[in-house]
Amino acid sequence: MSQQKLIARGHPLDKLLRTERLPHIWCPGCGLGTLLGSFLRAVDYLVSKGVIDEKQLVVVTGIGCTGRLSAYVKLDGAHTPHGRAIPYAIGVKLGNPRLVPVVISGDGDIASIGGNHLIHAARRNMDLLVIMANNLNYALTGGQMGPTTPPGAYTTTTPRGNPERPFDVARMVASIGGNYVARWSIHYPVQLEESIKKALPRRGFRFIEVVSTCPEIFGRHVGYRTPPELYDRLKKVVRIKKPRALDDIVYDWEKEITLGVFRDEDEPGYMESICRLYSYEWCREIPEVKWARRLAK
Ligand code: SF4
Repeated sequence: MSQQKLIARGHPLDKLLRTERLPHIWCPGCGLGTLLGSFLRAVDYLVSKGVIDEKQLVVVTGIGCTGRLSAYVKLDGAHTPHGRAIPYAIGVKLGNPRLVPVVISGDGDIASIGGNHLIHAARRNMDLLVIMANNLNYALTGGQMGPTTPPGAYTTTTPRGNPERPFDVARMVASIGGNYVARWSIHYPVQLEESIKKALPRRGFRFIEVVSTCPEIFGRHVGYRTPPELYDRLKKVVRIKKPRALDDIVYDWEKEITLGVFRDEDEPGYMESICRLYSYEWCREIPEVKWARRLAK
């Protein structure tokens, strides 16, 4: 088939994209396209199998490079103020429990400015999937130090090197007790896709961290001149493991960033706790209960 015919045919995932918004604003070599691809393939699969209706999905993003994603996907969504994607998504769920909110945002938005919302959503086992892109800095605003920036790294706010210890966000959420917690990197798009397929249609709080490359800002600041250099540097430290305890999970840019599934439970989520207390008419219809029954079979 000629190249022109192939272009005219479009991409199989175009049905889930607002193609009129493309090309996107992400820099060449940015890892966010890989994250988006894994997410769309997982959604496409779940819709094709009848597990989820795409009309139920609401993609909520915060501020930052990742925040642009809600404008590119052809799903209901919202682009919310900095750090407030999680409370907005909780509002969506409480306002219409038949909907399935998915938060996709960056590490600064989720773990720093919105850090308290993350902790309490996990504590409540809120019925919500959060996918956090971790690009190791505040990229969109110019490369400031973020909660995940490696110690010693140059950023625009730490010109002599970062004096702080970083957050291991996935390990923290696993310690609080969300139902599903995993960390992947953009080097493993298939594992990420499988993880999203597993985490999306289930109850309770689900959290997937995606360690991503920001070659334009973080990479240049720490001395990597091209996207492949940063990609390869990161690939050297990411390691897939099956941790037996929280202490086996490592987040160290010099030694190891542990990847894998850190928690995989099926405890009742917040919405079911509400339904145990109140007999709301919608309690019979919340998708999480249907999925929990399917998982239990
Ligand atoms: S600044 Fe970094 S994270 Fe943002 S689009 Fe460019 S490469 Fe990606």
